[in-house]
Amino acid sequence: MNIKFKSGRKFYSAGVKFECQKDCTKCCEIEGTVWLTENEANEIANDLGLALQDFKKKFTKIVENKLTLLEKENEHCIFLEQGEGCLIHEVKPMQCQTYPFWNVNIETEKDWEEIKNICVGVGLGKVYTADEIEMIALKNETKK
Ligand code: SF4
Repeated sequence: MNIKFKSGRKFYSAGVKFECQKDCTKCCEIEGTVWLTENEANEIANDLGLALQDFKKKFTKIVENKLTLLEKENEHCIFLEQGEGCLIHEVKPMQCQTYPFWNVNIETEKDWEEIKNICVGVGLGKVYTADEIEMIALKNETKK
């Protein structure tokens, strides 16, 4: 695939800082939909020692004809355990792995600034280059 990056025109051309903060689980607590591919569902089911159909029945639902993770009544992710964090961290979906570098969050500087209201890791730690940011965003868009 021939990918044309537009980094030169983006606010993050010189890179941005981000580091997920230990003990923070805010992005797993906010209202939102965690989309799942079949591969991701398979991987999580295997990790939990469940048959795929049992995993789907217990932990997923269909939204707009697509598979998503269930949420708890308080809107937290079904796999977020207070005090323990993500129970499927090793096999969490690409959407979770690539947060906060989603296309919708890096479209404009204003979008990125608004993410700071959720994510305390934005502006801290490692500098991600424009290419790294776009590769991460692309991973989320093209997950299989
Ligand atoms: S909100 Fe940001 S810092 Fe907190 S867990 Fe999510 S990615 Fe990490």
